[in-house]
Amino acid sequence: MLDSYKHKGLRKRLIEGIRRKGITNENVLNAVMKVPRHFFMAKGFEERAYQDNAFPIAADQTISQPYTVAVQTSLLDVQKGEKVLEIGTGSGYQAAILLELGANLFTIERQRELYKSSQLLLKKLGYFPFSYFGDGYKGLPTYAPFNKILITAGAPEIPQELLKQLKIGGILVAPIGPSGSQDMLKVTKISENEFQEESFGKFVFVPMLKGKN
Ligand code: SAH
Repeated sequence: MLDSYKHKGLRKRLIEGIRRKGITNENVLNAVMKVPRHFFMAKGFEERAYQDNAFPIAADQTISQPYTVAVQTSLLDVQKGEKVLEIGTGSGYQAAILLELGANLFTIERQRELYKSSQLLLKKLGYFPFSYFGDGYKGLPTYAPFNKILITAGAPEIPQELLKQLKIGGILVAPIGPSGSQDMLKVTKISENEFQEESFGKFVFVPMLKGKN
């Protein structure tokens, strides 16, 4: 796997584009600069890797658009050493970004094929999250509570079990709504039963499905 000057140049342009779209968090932009997105896509799509678009991966899923990754990551506001749970490992790209920010990352994927390929690739690149094959709706009760929870698939409503697994003061970021259009929500846990909800615009994600495959 080669990360050439050309790739780095394309990444630099991508970052300038994301910045123009309103992303100001320098830590997030630096993480996007560091992670070679073309490694997370099929060979032969290297130019496409640095266009600001979602792209198909295996198992009929997608790697999120870089701008969307940057929005979600900015809202999550990860601090070094925080325990972070990601639902929907997919290609592993978002996981790599969270690890670059110093997260202690737990990530769940329901498609066995993606669970396996992402784990292998992340390891090759020197990233070591705790990867699980399972249903993200259940979270990881054994390892809870988490400082931050990030859902990278569109859920019809906020999964209550995940709110339970959030620390007080913790943040959950998730696209919530029907298939085809979700609201990007940031939910802050104020106390055991109190939550503050803010909305950050419309996005389109592949659906968050129950069970595993
Ligand atoms: N974060 C990924 C985005 C992948 S798309 C990346 O950077 O590439 C969303 C992923 O969520 C898909 O891989 C899909 O299989 C997965 N997913 C959907 N429902 C899920 C669930 N209930 N639990 C775990 N993963 C789920």
